[in-house]
Formats: sequence, C-alpha cells, structure tokens
Amino acid sequence: DDDVKQGYAPICVGLEDFFVRRLYLRVQDCFGRPIASAPDSWFDVVERTSDDNNKTLQRTSKTTRCLNLTSYNYLGFAAADEYCVPRVVDSLKKYSASTCSARVDGGTTKLHTELEELVARFVGKPAAVVFGMGYVTNSATIPCLIGKGGLIISDSLNHNSIVNGARGSDATVRVFRHNCPAHLEKVLREQVAGGQPRTHRAWKKIVVVVEGIYSMEGELCKLPEIIAVCKKYKAYTYLDEAHSIGAVGRSGRGVCELLGVDPADVDVMMGTFTKSFGSCGGYIAASEEIVQHLKHTCPGHLYATSMSPPAVQQVISAIRVVLGEDGSSRGAQKLARIRENSNFFRSELKKMGFEVLGDNDSPVMPIMLYNPAKIPAFSRECFRQKLQVAVITVAFPVTPLLLARARFCISASHTREDLTKALDVISRVGDLVGIKYFPAQRPKI
Ligand code: PMP
Repeated sequence: DDDVKQGYAPICVGLEDFFVRRLYLRVQDCFGRPIASAPDSWFDVVERTSDDNNKTLQRTSKTTRCLNLTSYNYLGFAAADEYCVPRVVDSLKKYSASTCSARVDGGTTKLHTELEELVARFVGKPAAVVFGMGYVTNSATIPCLIGKGGLIISDSLNHNSIVNGARGSDATVRVFRHNCPAHLEKVLREQVAGGQPRTHRAWKKIVVVVEGIYSMEGELCKLPEIIAVCKKYKAYTYLDEAHSIGAVGRSGRGVCELLGVDPADVDVMMGTFTKSFGSCGGYIAASEEIVQHLKHTCPGHLYATSMSPPAVQQVISAIRVVLGEDGSSRGAQKLARIRENSNFFRSELKKMGFEVLGDNDSPVMPIMLYNPAKIPAFSRECFRQKLQVAVITVAFPVTPLLLARARFCISASHTREDLTKALDVISRVGDLVGIKYFPAQRPKI
C-alpha cells in the first residue's frame, strides 16, 4: 500500500515486538489488503521536534505535520518551553551534556542534589535519589530492596521494567489480578502463615508493586484500597508513578494527591521524568534510610553514568513551573488544561460509541479494536483523513491477542480545536473500520 511505502503506518503502528511485526507483514488487514511490503516500513524517523511543544510531529517522509496523540508529553514540556530552554542551555554550557562519571565518582553536580531535594519536596517524601533512566530505576532498585526469602506481589499488568526488576531480585514473585484489591488480599492471605493476618509468616519481607496510572489501560490505581490491604498484612508498597506524576492531582503531585492518599502510606515512590517533565531519567523517593541504602548499594546508582546535567536542569525547571516558582501561573494552567482535555476527549469518545478504557482525569486513553487485523486498518485510515493524526496501536504480546487497542495520549499543549478535529477524524475512521462497539455490540472474550 502507498501509505505504508511512504512510511505512514510506522509511526502509528507502535508494535514493539519483532515477531509480531513479522507476523503482520504476512497477514491482511480487515479489508483484505496486504499489510506491508518491507520491514523498514514499520519505522519512521522524526526529523525534528516541532516548535509547538511537540503538539505535532514533523516527519522525514512528508513535510506535512500530524497531530501528535502518541507522545507522553502530558504537560507539554517536550521541547521549546520558554522557561526551561534558556536554563537547559546554560546548564549545557556549564556542565556539558554528560558527567562521563558515575554519581560516586565525580558524577554528582549541584544540579543532581538540587533535583533530589526538589523531587522529595514535590512528592512529599523525606528523601529522593535520581537515576539516568526510568527503566533502570525500577529494574535496578527492586533487587536492592528485596531478595531471597522475600515475596514480591506484582499487579498482573505492571510494566516490563518492574517485571525485570522482580525477576532479577531472587525474591519469590506472585502476581495479583490487575488492580483488584480483593485478589491481592487473597494472594496475601495464602502467603501468610496460618492464613491469618498479622501472625508469623514465612517471608522476610513482602513488597506489593503497583502503578499510579496503567499505561496500556489508562486506569488509575485503586491505591487507598491496596494500601489498606498492605497495612493489614504488613506488606510494603512500591508505587510506580511514571504516568501519574505531574499528570494528575490538583498540583500535579500524582495519584496520592488525586485519591487523597498520604504519601507517608506509600513506602517507595518511583517515577520517571520522561512523561510530564519533558526530560529523561527516573527517581525513587522514600525514607532517608531507604534512599541512603540505595545510594550505597544500587548498581544503577553506583556503576552507571549519572543523569545528564541538561536533562536534570530540564526537570528542575519544569517542576518549578508546575509549582509556580517561575513566578507565573503557567503550571496551574497546564494542570487545568490536561485535566479538561483528558475529560473532554474521553467523554466525547464514549458518546461516539467507542469502548474507552481507563478513568476520568487520566490522560491515557485506549479504545478497543479487539481484532488485531483492525490495527493497520485503523492506523492507515487515520492518515488517509485530511487531518493526520498519529496514534499508537497496541497488540499482542503487549496485550492479550484479541484485546488489541489504539491508544491516545492527551497533552496540555493540545487545544480544544485540535482535539475536536482529531475526534472528527477518529469518528470517521471508527465507522470505516467498524470499531464503535456500543455496549450491546462488544465482543465477548
Ligand atoms: N514505568 C512505567 C510504568 C513505564 O510506562 C515506563 C516507560 N513507559 C517506565 C517505567 C520506564 O521509563 P522510561 O521510559 O523513562 O525509561
């Protein structure tokens, strides 16, 4: 197909697995059209970041732009922010792009300690430590917090970085049904000796790992209920806020703020700087003891080059904007905008008849396609419409085989007009591809 040859499909078909890509090369979409002609067509290169806070994507294959509903750019800090950019440029001049050293070997700049204090203050914990990559924050930290003789109870839809961290820990791992406090309790009860809460148990330590917003479901964690269960069974809680920090809560402080949970009730708060703050890296915020323990034992801290100083400065500046410490009300406006945008987009999609996953306030919005053959058809039709819309489609093995979906990520930099136009395209595509599954028409799987 021409669209595929010109590289249209790749940007919206975000299939992450080589095997699945190969599979799709051989099959047809739901209109019986061959899906792709060359493996390369599944990739596209973004030529440069657009000058509108990454609201649109500018791609090499076409000079036209498409509305960016793919990036995790929740607060619109990706690129060209008037407060962040000059400060990031200064930090580049002062510290260069890399420290070329691990934190303990001369790789700690003033910016790193400033960011750690700021993150701790922002999320409401006594201390924090930052890492060069969000993925590593989970995969390297979890094995330092729990090991042999310990039990990790992980939500069934936790991110791969958590899964790898748990696997690398030597602890026993059990999985509980996604976002289901009752099933978590069942698993905990089975694991506690005698089946009685608060009695002697076989495990040295139990850690329950959950996410604030689930990135493929758009769902908020049932955090208050999960914490209640953890308290009852004296289990520790580990909360990954990659998609919720900065994105939800009245002042952007994540699911704790949104759901009225005291941060003191979450033992370990993890987050990334890649979604709301337009940068890269991750953090752990916890008690002074836990943070010191990680600083002394975690290989991701001891043996990895520290976070790039300009990336650190970007996060510092973005958090200051969110807190209003830049002297403007832009932070508050961004937070209000992302909430309004998300709730507007979600309710409009529902009215149109799409099956939308997730909760109000969440900027992550998957709509169900179910049939994997509808993925390329959906992506392609999106691009055929006059307004080009870049979306991510998600399929097996990221989701079960018959639960394919398209996912929209809403940003504070989208205007109501952008979203209205995108909804119009999505509605037309939904009719063409046959994915307006009003409740009565939903496939029973
Ligand atoms: N945790 C979750 C829940 C994520 O979705 C991601 C990445 N999307 C990560 C951790 C890893 O973060 P990063 O991309 O910043 O390395």
